[in-house]
Amino acid sequence: MDLTVISTFRCNSRCQMCYIWKNPTVPKEEVSIETLSKLPGGFDNLNISGGEPTLRQDLGELVETLYPKAMITEISSNGLRPKRLLPIIKKFPDIKVRFSLEGDELTNNRIRGEKNGYQTKLDGIRMLREAGGTDLGFAMVIQDENADQLVQVYEQAQKEGIELATSTLHNAWQFYKNDNYFYERGKVAREVEGLITSMLKTSKVKNWFRAYLNLGLIEKILGHDRLIPCTAGSDFAFIDPWSDVWACNVRTDLPLGNLAKQSWEEITSSEQAKQTLNKVASCSQNCWMVTTARTAMRSNLSPKLPKMEPMLWVLLNKIRVTFGKDLDFEKYIDYKDIRQSPQVIRTPFLGERVKDQIVLQEKLETPAEHYPLQSFDNR
Ligand code: SF4
Repeated sequence: MDLTVISTFRCNSRCQMCYIWKNPTVPKEEVSIETLSKLPGGFDNLNISGGEPTLRQDLGELVETLYPKAMITEISSNGLRPKRLLPIIKKFPDIKVRFSLEGDELTNNRIRGEKNGYQTKLDGIRMLREAGGTDLGFAMVIQDENADQLVQVYEQAQKEGIELATSTLHNAWQFYKNDNYFYERGKVAREVEGLITSMLKTSKVKNWFRAYLNLGLIEKILGHDRLIPCTAGSDFAFIDPWSDVWACNVRTDLPLGNLAKQSWEEITSSEQAKQTLNKVASCSQNCWMVTTARTAMRSNLSPKLPKMEPMLWVLLNKIRVTFGKDLDFEKYIDYKDIRQSPQVIRTPFLGERVKDQIVLQEKLETPAEHYPLQSFDNR
């Protein structure tokens, strides 16, 4: 099982597609080390995310607590405070670190509202690499404003000797947003094709399966069904900053329990969990973010093996690329079927005065108070 610990909703980026920064938590209310110590061992991937996890003063201690509980421990960071990660990388060089990067300097800084973000991330990732980090990379949220730079960012990551993880615009309680829609779905989807081909051309098996994951992103961008059904709650879960455990980070009607008040065993065997898993089985959202896609692609026999469907797709298309043939995307994707969605202008916050927009999430008791937006549309 994969687990994401959303360690805080404090964030020092000002992204246009995620409003966590407008809804910061207070440190004393955030999920504690004591609570996280209750987690059992044996997770496949344990991601410490946010908000921005480096804003937690106790991040080092948090990593020490969680590292022994998972095969892979990951930190998803905006990369604006790379020095905070230096002692962690020196102690645990195999920790997976991903820095959000949305394109070239102008594009990244504009989308993420970061004054010097681009250069800080680049310098930071190089510093962590020199300190011995072995699993470093960028993470990019594909949107209209940066889709044409996808291959360029991938090549840049390759040049640096690091990875590139991709996701797309999404609506979810985690992002405090329900109006992230593409302006031109067809155009954005076509840009992902170049990345898929580039990934299949490499000699890294991991990249070939990432190519399949990106095929799923094309389906998501166009508003189609998922390539493989979602397994939220059984193959992955999220813990929010108030210690509430959720099957996923999208729907507010999929709670599993609360780790501060219950044991992990109580949560996973509860009536609440059963009800939530039933709802997941009939969920009609088409989420395809890294966690939901990666877990869906895994074989039921072993988390290290892929399911038959992605395996066959990879085999066939790797052979095509090897023999110099173009991929036949029309065979897999119905480009004639593109869902319509509202056109909501995204606001870039770089250089904006944003103080008035930030509302501290303090002394709120219930999940309903924590997440006033209740419905999220990912079609
Ligand atoms: S498909 Fe449904 S259950 Fe799965 S992550 Fe999305 S909203 Fe959650």
